[in-house]
Amino acid sequence: MNAPVSTDLFSGAIARLDKAFQYADIDAEALERLKHPKQILQVSVPVRMDNGSLKVFTGYRVRHDDTRGPTKGGLRYSPNVDISEVKALAFWMTFKCAVMNIPYGGAKGGICVNPKELSRMELERLSRGFIEQIADFIGPETDIPAPDMYTNAMIMGWMMDEYSKIHRRHTPGVITGKPIPLGGSQGREEATGRGAYYCIKELEKKRDWEPKTIRVAVQGFGNAGQHIARLLHSDGYQVVGVSDSSGGCYKPEGFDIPSLIQVKNESRRLQAVYCTGSVCEAIQSKAITNEELLELDVDILVPAALENVITASNANKIKAPVIVEVANGPITGEADEILNEKGKLVVPDILANAGGVTVSYFEWVQNQQGYYWNLDEVQQKLHTMMAREFNHVYDWMVEKKIDMRTAAYAVALSRIGAAIASLGTVQ
Ligand code: GLU
Repeated sequence: MNAPVSTDLFSGAIARLDKAFQYADIDAEALERLKHPKQILQVSVPVRMDNGSLKVFTGYRVRHDDTRGPTKGGLRYSPNVDISEVKALAFWMTFKCAVMNIPYGGAKGGICVNPKELSRMELERLSRGFIEQIADFIGPETDIPAPDMYTNAMIMGWMMDEYSKIHRRHTPGVITGKPIPLGGSQGREEATGRGAYYCIKELEKKRDWEPKTIRVAVQGFGNAGQHIARLLHSDGYQVVGVSDSSGGCYKPEGFDIPSLIQVKNESRRLQAVYCTGSVCEAIQSKAITNEELLELDVDILVPAALENVITASNANKIKAPVIVEVANGPITGEADEILNEKGKLVVPDILANAGGVTVSYFEWVQNQQGYYWNLDEVQQKLHTMMAREFNHVYDWMVEKKIDMRTAAYAVALSRIGAAIASLGTVQ
């Protein structure tokens, strides 16, 4: 996949607010506050490489808004990380937490690095060094990081350990998405995919879908993409197109998703942190590009990779009537207008991919109380919350005759607006 065409992702992200404002219960001053991130931290992380040389990496942590609670959001490792991207991602987290009605504000962070070029030891030194630099900025009651693109449970474990060492107390609640033996939650790994799956299950009821007849294409076969494909496949949905950064494949009769997941994960050699192979390797199917995957004639399209993949130049070619945004920000504002005009239903990222942060919230609750839940409890609570908020947003969409993204933003804005109003005018 190509790098996102983000000139200024943050400006694009906040442009969505003005449209939702007219349907939300929030005053203009509160709206203005939300157009500016609360705090931005940029750090330089020196890392001793395995060959003895020193490399300095640039990292960021942005806290967008903390009116509704401590700020929450992932850390990504990618060569595309820049301040505009991190600001946009932090902004989306504020709205994601509000739309799910979980008591957090939004934040995000990242390091500009190609993590696949680092050895495991270099990755650990970089991760611990980054925490050393941001240790006074984060904390279980202030700002709580989590995994995002190219970061995982192992990295969260190192980070929690480093923070605990610096502060001289065991602090599992400082970060979520940890390995289960270090205070991670059951069900966190699959949570983003499972949350999106619950959204589709609600839509299935509304549209009377017979899963066997519904064709799905999934762009991106990382953590989120794999789990949503697996869950839909096990319900009988036909997943006919999949892709990853090396390209895609298409099979009209549908893929056997468990074997695709096995192929993808087999490519992760012992000790290697990242998969090296492509999902389409060793599978009999038609090779397609990532661009072609988006344009497949399917019933549900799931972009689960990068931001800005559906733009003004390809929006007209999208055939799927339903798009479920599992990636953050895969559709640009201009593309949104085109899709809306064509009557497509877009289940927006701040709702569709909110399962991850929701189970992160469960993990933090368990850490803070020192009492742990089983997988059933986690899945049931996630299901209840996803179904409730999906239907809440859907009802706003129908009632106010607006698109689902505007409805989700209006719901979130009203909740944030109520919190800001409760602070009084001095704040
Ligand atoms: N990185 C994920 C997201 O974009 C999860 C954030 C979290 O768990 O705090 O929603």
